[in-house]
Amino acid sequence: MSRTTIQVLAPDVVSMIAAGEVIERPASVVKELVENSLDAGATQVSIEARDGGVGLIRVSDNGEGVPADQVELAFYRNATSKLTSASDLETIGSLGFRGEALPSIASVAEVEMFSLSVGETAGTQVTIREGRVVQRASRGRPPGTAVTVRNLFRAVPARLKFLKSPATENGHIANLVDQYALAHPEVRFLLYMEGRAALRTPGTGQPRDGVAAVYGIEVAQAMLDLDHREGEASRPRITGLVAPPRLARARRGYLSFFVNGRWVQSRMMARAVEDAYHGLLMVGKHPVAVIHVSVPPQDVDVNIHPSKAEVKFRQEQAVFSALQREVRRVLVEETPVPRIEPAVPGLEPDPARTAPMMDLAPLFAAPPSPAPQGAPSLPVLRILGQMASTYIIAEGPQGLYLVDQHAAHERILFERVSAQREGRQVDVQGLLEPLTIEVSPRQQVSLQERGEDLSGFGFQIEPFGERTYLVRAVPALLAGQDLAQAVLEVVDSLGEGAESDWQERVAISLCCHGAVRAGQVLSHEEMRQLVRDLETTKMPRTCPHGRPTIVHFSAGQLEKEFGRH
Ligand code: ADP
Ligand code: MG
Repeated sequence: MSRTTIQVLAPDVVSMIAAGEVIERPASVVKELVENSLDAGATQVSIEARDGGVGLIRVSDNGEGVPADQVELAFYRNATSKLTSASDLETIGSLGFRGEALPSIASVAEVEMFSLSVGETAGTQVTIREGRVVQRASRGRPPGTAVTVRNLFRAVPARLKFLKSPATENGHIANLVDQYALAHPEVRFLLYMEGRAALRTPGTGQPRDGVAAVYGIEVAQAMLDLDHREGEASRPRITGLVAPPRLARARRGYLSFFVNGRWVQSRMMARAVEDAYHGLLMVGKHPVAVIHVSVPPQDVDVNIHPSKAEVKFRQEQAVFSALQREVRRVLVEETPVPRIEPAVPGLEPDPARTAPMMDLAPLFAAPPSPAPQGAPSLPVLRILGQMASTYIIAEGPQGLYLVDQHAAHERILFERVSAQREGRQVDVQGLLEPLTIEVSPRQQVSLQERGEDLSGFGFQIEPFGERTYLVRAVPALLAGQDLAQAVLEVVDSLGEGAESDWQERVAISLCCHGAVRAGQVLSHEEMRQLVRDLETTKMPRTCPHGRPTIVHFSAGQLEKEFGRH
């Protein structure tokens, strides 16, 4: 390009450039319009999309409306009713504030606004094409606003080319409306796509009703309540719902975060929640959660991105740990894997009566009184026997329990290894004769990188020529196992997954090898010991992979099965 003189760009070019930041795809239009409806105090918002939103998007609300003399003004760049001075930016309570959405949409599509403000007798309808008002009319309508956007990006072929299929764009729109429906259970949302009703929320104000509409009734009923109020007002408050681990999904994308009512996407918050589920989910499963973070407006900057989809906290770390702690607390407390539902309500196990009996071991310690944060009290179990050399059968006051002996033992060993590592007191088993192992090139890389670190677990492994290593010591819990195989699998675990989790992976792999197998016959005393040890762990209900250690069949369930009811 030849060098020319510098010019200030024409306003319509500036508009189009700026619009690119706000309006990336049809779902961005829906986002801006829905936010405007919510800012207008609407209790009902309906959204319609055709041709993946490119043909038509219409968002109608019953909010406060725009007065007749301001409908056109709303389309001016940086025209807003939500902000008057720069200092207002410090304490933004509305979703919009930049005054950019309507002008941006109008610069890339044909837009019509039809609004009636409270107190007016007739609505005002204005149509804008290529940035110019082409039609203006006065017609009756109920209070509220409808904005219709047609032929999105027709004048911007470059953008149009980057859009995906209508089905994909509809998917983005549906996801977006889902998020707002989850965030605002007090608003009735209706979504129609290609003429079909895709979402309908009741607007009851109950967060669970929003979840039921979006994720289904089963998830909604099982969700656990978060309500975390830190002492000081300046601290983040965490509210919302998290799904128990058993309802985890096979893919990511079921985490919704709202900061002061604004839907945001945040790696930091996703990390905090994933951390909280750590060890409770099966490998490859992802959590479902709807979480509100409330902070004083001056503690969060919402003005870091034109689409307002990201925010910056003044105290990132405080938000991270509040979120992580609260979700963890609720999950650990309430994950009802062994479901305790008394067959006869009010019938609690009587420790005085049951304690002296043989074979009775409290599975999980009863909470010291007063109970800290209402930890669940769990039943006293009587061991009946072993099934398929795999499950320990036990009876409790609430029915029948099956304990997976391998999973339970893994949990016990995992916590033991973690405690030993924390105290730097790892039980080591020296080998009288070193064991020679041959490794693959990939295993060799892992060993070169991490071989020395493995000594923290009790391994002593030295290089011994071409792809051969000598193992001189192993963690004591591997005693009696096939050592070569165990060592190689631990080495394999080094190379899988995220770098930051390697220690946990090694611990899990070790415990898996050290734990009693399924298929191993256990004596009565061994079973009792296992159940007793499980009782002392911090997370008795799941193995380190996140599988349950115990399942429960209630007396009521059994009665039903036997037709006694
Ligand atoms: P912002 O939301 O940042 O103020 P917009 O361009 O999205 O900017 O909207 C400009 C103005 O138009 C808003 O400040 C508001 O006064 C008015 N407005 C837009 N949509 C609606 C609506 N659905 N109901 C009432 N007023 C609206
Ligand atoms: Mg807006």
